[in-house]
Amino acid sequence: MRLEELNASLFHDSQTDKLTGLSNRRHFDELLAEEFARASRKDLPLSVMLIDVDHFKVFNDTFGHSAGDETLRQVSRVLTESKRSQDHVARYGGEEFVVLLPNTSEEGAMILAERIRRAVQNSDWSFGQVTISLGVCTFSGSNHTIGDLMVATDEALYASKSSGRNRATLAKLP
Ligand code: GH3
Ligand code: MG
Ligand code: MG
Repeated sequence: MRLEELNASLFHDSQTDKLTGLSNRRHFDELLAEEFARASRKDLPLSVMLIDVDHFKVFNDTFGHSAGDETLRQVSRVLTESKRSQDHVARYGGEEFVVLLPNTSEEGAMILAERIRRAVQNSDWSFGQVTISLGVCTFSGSNHTIGDLMVATDEALYASKSSGRNRATLAKLP
């Protein structure tokens, strides 16, 4: 392999999650910083969606770890097929995923969240039914930081979990 090819391959690997082939957390953080800067500069809304698979520990305990792995790959495919072309999807860690929605209002983000939630619920699952919980937050030209955005999104995800799972909750930035 030539040196440039080797470099390109190492660079790709450094941005990619091995299990799903999605962007990894490191690449997501870079994309988020870029999109956040662009949204601030152009005064456009930017939405973010955190997605966590429901009761996945029980799923693994019931069907085994390799069924769990295959299921995470299927979740990643459903997310990739459900998002719009301008959106970025990444594996945030474990059984958590994140979607970055440039130039998207609260209303648009919640419509997409509901579409994704339903697509996962209606997917053809080989091992057992899978559902997801979502937290959604929109940054729109205020003086909030990336940290504020991610904390609020995580709190909205937690609200979806504690109010029954298989649902999306919209965060309000303080
Ligand atoms: P909740 O609905 O509250 O999210 O419950 P949960 O069981 O999904 O949450 P918890 O954080 O207790 O467990 C997450 C599980 O996800 C446990 C862990 O083994 C599993 N998991 C994380 N990453 C992977 C992976 O790469 N492969 C497999 N098979 N399982 C994974
Ligand atoms: Mg989790
Ligand atoms: Mg979970």
